[in-house]
Amino acid sequence: MSDCVFCKIVSGEIPSNKVYEDDKIIVINDLNPGAPVHVLIIPKEHTESILTASADILVYIQSKLDEITTKLGIKEKGFRVVINYGKDGGQTVPHLHVHILGGKVLGWPPC
Ligand code: AMP
Ligand code: ZN
Repeated sequence: MSDCVFCKIVSGEIPSNKVYEDDKIIVINDLNPGAPVHVLIIPKEHTESILTASADILVYIQSKLDEITTKLGIKEKGFRVVINYGKDGGQTVPHLHVHILGGKVLGWPPC
């Protein structure tokens, strides 16, 4: 989508701090980190949200979590996986993305 910030990051039009990339996803450091480690897993193909995403991409992202969190050094101690949806849920970018947070003991509930 031409006016989508994450599509522009995927295409390279907007620079990002990439920590992983393959043919289906990129993983970038969040611009405003909420934890010592805070990355976003972004599918290369535009889809708006968790409600429009295919099962295939969600399963693919799940299948990469072990590798990505190992690479980030947060697998052993643990991490949080977050997908925001809608206004109350805090989704600000309408291109599916999965937050991975770690590097400290995270508070709960997250509000
Ligand atoms: P959400 O609020 O769940 O839609 O998450 C959007 C996330 O994208 C926020 O945590 C922002 O800090 C992050 N973000 C927005 N623009 C950029 C960017 N250009 N590079 C990296 N992260 C970004
Ligand atoms: Zn997009």
